[in-house]
This record gives sequence, C-alpha cells and structure tokens, in this order.
Amino acid sequence: MHDLLLRHGTVHDGFGGPAREADVAIDDGRVTAVGRDLGAARRVIDVSGLVVAPGFVDPHSHSDTVPFLAEPQPFKLYQGVTTEIIGNCGFSCGPANPDTAGFMPAVLAGEAFTTFGAYLDAAQAAGPSNNLAVLVGHNTLRLAAGGMEAAPGPKALDRMCALAAESFTAGAAGLSSGLEYVPGAYADTAELVALALVARRWNLPYATHMRNESEGLADALDEAIAVATRAGVRLQVSHCKASGRAVHGSSAMLLAKLAAARRAGLDVRADVYPYRAFGTGLVAVLPRAPARAARTRCGPGSPTRPSGPRSARWRRTRRPPSGSASGASCTRPTCRSSPTPTPPSPASGWPTCPATRGTPCATCCAPTRTRTGSSTPCTTTT
Ligand SMILES: [Zn+2]
Repeated sequence: MHDLLLRHGTVHDGFGGPAREADVAIDDGRVTAVGRDLGAARRVIDVSGLVVAPGFVDPHSHSDTVPFLAEPQPFKLYQGVTTEIIGNCGFSCGPANPDTAGFMPAVLAGEAFTTFGAYLDAAQAAGPSNNLAVLVGHNTLRLAAGGMEAAPGPKALDRMCALAAESFTAGAAGLSSGLEYVPGAYADTAELVALALVARRWNLPYATHMRNESEGLADALDEAIAVATRAGVRLQVSHCKASGRAVHGSSAMLLAKLAAARRAGLDVRADVYPYRAFGTGLVAVLPRAPARAARTRCGPGSPTRPSGPRSARWRRTRRPPSGSASGASCTRPTCRSSPTPTPPSPASGWPTCPATRGTPCATCCAPTRTRTGSSTPCTTTT
C-alpha cells in the first residue's frame, strides 16, 4: 500500500515529453510509480484538472539569508519552487573577512561567515524551506582577499583562488560574478579566468551578472563568453536582458551571440526574470571610482552599511575624517574633485544619450544626469 496517491492529474515529468494523464504514487517522501492502476494508498488526493510536476528550480535567487529568518518562509514553495540557486551576482555570505565584511550588501552583512562551509552548516542547521545550491561570489572573495582596493595585487588573487578552492571543497555549486558592483567591477578578464579555472577543477559553472547590461551589453557578453571558453567551464548568463532605451532591440543580437557560442561548443545558458522590472543597489549606477570612494573614503553613506549589532563596529571603523561631509572641506586625495563635475562624454566610457548621441539630454537622461552629479564623492555620501 502506498503512502499517498495523486489520482487523475496531468503529469509533466520534467524530461521534456508531452503531458499525460496519470496517477502518481509516493512512498517515504519519494515518487515510486507513475501510471494507471497503481493500487491502494493510505491517502488519496483527486487532482483531476491539475498539473502534477517536479518542483521548479529558481536558477537566480538572492535568498541567502532567508534560512535565518525567525519564521518559516514558504513563499517560494507556494509558487512550486523547491530548489533555489543562491550566492548570485558575485555576493555570497562567505567566505568573509571580518575586517571587510561591513562592505558586503546590507542584506548579507548581518550574516557573514568566515568560511563558505560555515555558511552552509549554519543554513542547514537553520532548516531552510527549500533545497539550496550556493554559488561562491567573486565580490565576496575579492572583499575577503583585498577589501575595496581596485588593484589588490597578485597575492590577493592567489588568496582569492585559495578561498574559492576551499569553498568548492566545502560544497559551493559554482562561481558567480557581479561585475556592475564594486569591488568585482575592478577585476579584469584575466582575474575572472583565473577564478573560473579553479571552478573547472570541480567541473562547476560560472554564473555572471555581466559588466554591463545596457550600452556595453555586446562587449560584456563577449567577455563572459571569453571567460568561460578560456577556462573551459559552463556559463550561466544571469538575468539575461537588454536593459534600457539605448539597447532596445538588442535582444536579437544577444540571442545570436548565445546561439553562436553554443554552436562553437560552449555550454552557455541564461535565465530571465518572469517580470519586466528589476531592482539593484544605488551603487550600481555610480561611476566606478566615485563608487569606490563613496564606500572607502567618504564615510557612512554607503548603501551597504550594515544594520544590527555589526553597525556599531562599522560606524567606529568607517567614520569619515572630520570635515569630510562636503567636497570643499575634505582633504583626502580622491575627494579633491571639483564640486561641479565635468559632464561626461562618450569617450570617457559613460553611456551615450540615445536621443542626442552625445551629451546627456534634459529629458530622457535623468538617471545619467544623476550619475554625473554623483561624481562628487564627498557630497553624495549622506
Ligand atoms: Zn545581478
């Protein structure tokens, strides 16, 4: 006698074949038979008119700290998701260096673990609602090995590779990058290849939030493909999209590049939001150098400032020098820029206005204009 019988459902078995009408028998929590006339069961549920399918896998989730919330969090289960891949966009909860953990995003900073294995153990002990596969984040590795330095040096890269190897040994499911976020944004392609080569030793994939999803989309995708090809690893393009007016219509180019890479032998896949909006941190729209300055030199305005018990230590160690609340009075080298920054130009690597093909206009470039203003680091970190 079976424990449970789901009777008269429409079964999608997940192997790609057509749906079929069938019963599903379950014993000891596992599917033991699919078909007709499966015998008696202690409990029978009539699922006529309903779909019976394996649990869905959410390939791009940021539920890294969800296991540590006080109450059970079955919100994904209610949507049919039974497995989540977390540690995306270059940020995982470990391995963290206590000296630099305060720079991790606020959503993670309250749960920073000195080793990747410690995070896995804690998440397991907390009793997650879902199965979790955890990527180790490039930003997290960089923070642990070199803090917010743009060029932490070869020893830091060696340290990052060692930490990555420890993480894969502990059970990390792959490497993720978030190249729109500092300090990962400072990495060159060679650094990413070096870390992906470590993942290759475990036959694990490289998932990337690419360096640019808008005006620089084509180059960013080329870089992602190059990293995976040179390292010999599978590639996952995270939240694959052409973002913003400047690249409207670029989806065909994006898909063509992905298809060409697959024809060339690279196992590349992509995931897409099931909705039209997206969310990120404010730091993603800041220019790289001022973004770094905002976090490292200009005080507590970083959007990654942690909350809770860690915040007191963070305030002690990250308090800005006296008088640095404005650009005029700050004496640090990176804060001596003019309070009225020079408008960006396409040649400087800034986005190009889709309307004027040059200097940001007054109508459609509001975000770009905001970026311009924020390049005065001491006046934007309040
Ligand atoms: Zn992302």
